[in-house]
Amino acid sequence: MVCLAPTRSRSVWLIWLCRVKTVSIRSSQQLRWSADMNDAHRDASGTANEERPTPLYPAVIPREEHHPTSAQFEVVSTGDERGRALRATVAFRQGERVAQLSGILIRHTTLDTIQISPALHVSDPWFCRFLLHSCDPNLIIEITVMEARATRDIRPGEYLTIDYAATEDVLGSQFHCHCGSPHCRGWMTGRREKPNDAGRAFLEARGQ
Ligand SMILES: [Zn+2]
Repeated sequence: MVCLAPTRSRSVWLIWLCRVKTVSIRSSQQLRWSADMNDAHRDASGTANEERPTPLYPAVIPREEHHPTSAQFEVVSTGDERGRALRATVAFRQGERVAQLSGILIRHTTLDTIQISPALHVSDPWFCRFLLHSCDPNLIIEITVMEARATRDIRPGEYLTIDYAATEDVLGSQFHCHCGSPHCRGWMTGRREKPNDAGRAFLEARGQ
């Protein structure tokens, strides 16, 4: 049964219809604008993405200026037992800040950590994880400001290296160093530990 509402109600109904239509028009406009904006954004970001450097740290790490990006570094395979390493793709001058470092505080040592106090370590599986050891490194990590600085001029294509004993009291695993430096210590330990059995045997064989 059709029931005609009183005039006032019909007015309310008409106003409601008008509002619905207005909202509907507005919504469709917004959708259209959104679509246009998305297309524009997609176009802009599509073009920009090809040029925009990718941060090496994931979004869960709060962004900081001078965090490392794909514009300056690449993770590559060394093709030997060292596995993956970090290579500079641009030049750095001696003393220059190479990267601002970040990570997650944990209480134990892993392959990803840099020691910042006797009981605290920063886990950084995105940048520091790939820094190779050298007894004559091209980087030094300044713990108090969490920065990596160049100890000498670095050319594009060089592996980035630190001295593991400069920050670590105890290494997760001692190892025979092949860094090739004239100052190579041969057997790597943390700064507060003595060579293990394999290390003593190695050093005795070398007459050290
Ligand atoms: Zn060495």
